[in-house]
Amino acid sequence: MPVAIVPQKTLKSAISCSGIGVHSGQRVQMVLHPAPANHGIVFRRSDVARSAAQPADALIQADWRSVVDSRLCTTLGNAARTTVSTVEHLMAAFYGCEIDNALVEVSGPELPIMDGSAAPFVFLIECAGVRELDEPRRAIQVLRPIAVEDGSRRAVLRPGVGLTITCEIDFESAIVARQHFALDLEPATFRTEISRARTFGFAAEIDRLRAAGLARGGSLDNAVVIGKDRILNAEGLRFADEFVRHKVLDCVGDLYLAGAPILGHVEAVRVGHALNYRLLRALFEQPGAWRMVEMTTTYGVAGRREGLRAAGD
Ligand SMILES: [Zn+2]
Repeated sequence: MPVAIVPQKTLKSAISCSGIGVHSGQRVQMVLHPAPANHGIVFRRSDVARSAAQPADALIQADWRSVVDSRLCTTLGNAARTTVSTVEHLMAAFYGCEIDNALVEVSGPELPIMDGSAAPFVFLIECAGVRELDEPRRAIQVLRPIAVEDGSRRAVLRPGVGLTITCEIDFESAIVARQHFALDLEPATFRTEISRARTFGFAAEIDRLRAAGLARGGSLDNAVVIGKDRILNAEGLRFADEFVRHKVLDCVGDLYLAGAPILGHVEAVRVGHALNYRLLRALFEQPGAWRMVEMTTTYGVAGRREGLRAAGD
């Protein structure tokens, strides 16, 4: 059966949007630029670049090693202490659209929240178009189980075919309660099942965050807000289980900070950004637990998921 290398991808052309940061409330401009093979996803703070001592001071690699905060959202930073926050939804869109390389220029410290989901970013990427590059796409194949825990929260990576995820949430709120979701992550399933799921928050908690100077840009336009006994958004939910689907979205975005797609099964129980980050760190701290592979396509029923070869083979 013929085997073909799966190429790395980038955007066909640059595309921009503007919006507000959910925590800062600050209006920002964002431009997604094409980038060459093996460039990876890199953020560039255009506001910092104007006054930076070195051009590199404005650049932040989308990599788990760059994570500087993972409490409310995922924040990345560099040695010059330049940071960019709330990268997870855009990273999820890059994962879902199989974009390996891009330069993301942003005019402030936080990415725009858009509607609180990854769908506007998927739309942007589709409008820009996707271009194949002349280098093979690499992936991180999980070879041994890795688990991290925090009380009743648990994140586990196991060897598997493709990327599959099972996610569970359990909130005291009767509206969210316990939800379970399992998915075989492919570009098509990401788009239809996950990308539109919005971030959510509890009205009481949002008041507390606001008092602490956070969630300043948060509104019913960019989050599902849960009151005492009802959802405050007039339009209701996009999926009956939108909450757990958004957790999957966050997890996919956070795990794409591995620097390449992960091939394995993710079990995520009551996870948040902090645990997603710890899972990546735990994986890379164990050299025998993973290997870099080149993705190949075997044309036939088995599809591309069958095709892997160790990088360098
Ligand atoms: Zn999120």
